[in-house]
Amino acid sequence: MHIDIITCLPRLLESPFSDSILKRAQQKELVTVSIIDLREYANNKHRTTDDYAFGGGAGMVMMIEPIDRCITELKSKRQYDDIIYMSPDGEMLTQTIANELSLKKNLILLCGHYKGVDERVREHLITREISIGNYVLSGGELAAAVVADAVIRLLPGVLNDETSALTDSFQDGLVAPPVYTRPAEYKGWKVPEVLLSGHEAKIAQWKYEKSLERTKNRRPDLLRNS
Ligand code: SAH
Repeated sequence: MHIDIITCLPRLLESPFSDSILKRAQQKELVTVSIIDLREYANNKHRTTDDYAFGGGAGMVMMIEPIDRCITELKSKRQYDDIIYMSPDGEMLTQTIANELSLKKNLILLCGHYKGVDERVREHLITREISIGNYVLSGGELAAAVVADAVIRLLPGVLNDETSALTDSFQDGLVAPPVYTRPAEYKGWKVPEVLLSGHEAKIAQWKYEKSLERTKNRRPDLLRNS
């Protein structure tokens, strides 16, 4: 899989991809991530990518021209399954969407800033819009990193234990059961006996029951939806 992230603030995206699971996924060549600096596509002396809003109002708007030039160049090198604009009014990211995106080959994630992008970008240049929640961030960079992380960890071979992503919350409509590690007893607080029993079937049954109980208590909406 290849992901291009277009941004006018590339430094904001340096660290999420240079550590831990996302770094290893790139080292293993399971994914390539390119952070594209939109300013390189600005054709003015100061390399500005934004301008005042027509009709007035607070906040700058990202111009269509550099974005179009950038996307056109990227499209001349690769065929993209989706060109996604990160937007607070887009479809809300869910595990189902992450699963779906993880099957794609090439993706572009476009990060807005300031007041957002010129509406014509949304009308003509992109294929999809994704929000990471009902709140407004200063830019699309953190949102793009969230989408990329949720997708990349699903690619076969990225997580060491192949079943690991499947046992996470939301994959089967339930939230994950509680987890414990050593010591088995700390300040008198004990790990559930069954987890120390070595009895695989009983452990699996316990995990399922805990998942169900947690989902009922914390996310009854998931049970209603399924
Ligand atoms: N004026 C816009 C918000 C702009 S915020 C509005 O009211 O809808 C600036 C940029 O941050 C957006 O262009 C988008 O790319 C990104 N962004 C902000 N909140 C986001 C969210 N919840 N999900 C995804 N991207 C978001």
